[in-house]
Amino acid sequence: MIFKNKPLWGKKKKLKSSYDVVLIGGGLHSLATAYYLAKEHGITDIAIIEKNYIGFGGAGRNTAIVRANQRTQHNVPLYKEALDLWPVLTKELDYNLMFNNCGNLNLMHSEAAMKAARMTIATAQFHGVESHLIDAKEAKEMVPALNISENITFPIHGAMFHPPGGIVRHDAVVWGLAKGAAKKGVEIHQHTEALSIETKNNKVCSVTTSEGKINTRQVLISAGGYSAALIHDMLGIKLPISVLTIQAMVTQPLKPLLDHVVSSGAYHCYANQTLKGEIATGAHMDPWPNYTTLNTAHYIKHQAEALSEFLPCLRGVRFMRIWGGLADMTPDMAPIMDGNNQIEGFFMNCGWGYFGFKSCSAAGKYMAQFMATDQCPDIFKPFALKRYEEHRLMGETAALVNYTPDN
Ligand SMILES: Cc1cc2nc3c(=O)[nH]c(=O)nc-3n(C[C@H](O)[C@H](O)[C@H](O)COP(=O)(O)OP(=O)(O)OC[C@H]3O[C@@H](n4cnc5c(N)ncnc54)[C@H](O)[C@@H]3O)c2cc1C
Repeated sequence: MIFKNKPLWGKKKKLKSSYDVVLIGGGLHSLATAYYLAKEHGITDIAIIEKNYIGFGGAGRNTAIVRANQRTQHNVPLYKEALDLWPVLTKELDYNLMFNNCGNLNLMHSEAAMKAARMTIATAQFHGVESHLIDAKEAKEMVPALNISENITFPIHGAMFHPPGGIVRHDAVVWGLAKGAAKKGVEIHQHTEALSIETKNNKVCSVTTSEGKINTRQVLISAGGYSAALIHDMLGIKLPISVLTIQAMVTQPLKPLLDHVVSSGAYHCYANQTLKGEIATGAHMDPWPNYTTLNTAHYIKHQAEALSEFLPCLRGVRFMRIWGGLADMTPDMAPIMDGNNQIEGFFMNCGWGYFGFKSCSAAGKYMAQFMATDQCPDIFKPFALKRYEEHRLMGETAALVNYTPDN
């Protein structure tokens, strides 16, 4: 068989001097936005501008966990739609995204956490998302490796079980969306850096890149951990975003032992078994803002200690790879999706923290609708930047304090 050295998203093209739409960042959200702009709105004269290579950012570094049991009423419908879209996209893109809806088990380590989980479950069930509270024994039946004894730092009181969640292969999502967008005419310009956005009469008129200037009337910045700095430096818009490093790792391959994603807020640790048998586990977040993707010995020690307590059969197992990525954190753990406000033709989609993988399908779909129609979709309205000025922060942080680590 002859393999042609041609990427799924077509051959490199010369950057044109104008496009209808420019998307800055070749991550999950830009790729999904481009795909839906082309598929649902017939807008195909699009350039995705990526400084490195597609998937360089959080897109290629995340731990691939998807779920829809968020804490608040505005978030759940968005994440539910995103979850429902994985099998649809697998068919549409004709690309195996390896969606494994193995279910997520969020461990609870106190009665207060069990009470908080009841509220989250009620919100989820109200929006048609399957989620149940189970006790420690039931959790042990589902995950026999779980240590439910009293002799650990945070004894397990029960768990929130969310059957429709699970894992989607993150690289496949990047490649599948890139393939789908490119097939409809979208151009992906890798190794091209967006340097500035020019405006005239408060309207976007061009983007300057390392490969030349592009005239355009619509620009989206969706550059993950880099978004806040770009938006500030290019347009002077300040965002309440702190950029923190998250680290994750995988162990050596093991025989099957984990059928579900297991997570614990108290241990600040989660684990799932990949198709290769590795235990993928994360994710420590450095508590100070920075732009590094380096790893720390502290994290390796923390992860080893946490896993040895609630999954003691992993004691002595070797970690094989470790990596870090950036998370753009907002004060309320919810994203900022906004556009056409301060500057006509300028849109932003950022502040996803560690939730930007599981949401990208639906967020991209609605961002495309927003850009194509100039009308903010209802589902996006609660995520506007002005919520911070108006003190209408969302309560997603509540979900984290009690039981949900960074996944
Ligand atoms: C270790 C780790 C684990 C995670 N686990 C999960 C998880 O299990 N589930 C989940 O939902 N989320 C998870 N996340 C979060 C998720 O990966 C991010 O929220 C998501 O990738 C954000 O997508 P994005 O498209 O906004 O940005 P990214 O995927 O980060 O892409 C941004 C792109 O912009 C490019 N760029 C930057 N500056 C410029 C410029 N000037 N010009 C052109 N391009 C530029 C970058 O090179 C990068 O490729 C995790 C993140 C990390 C780091």
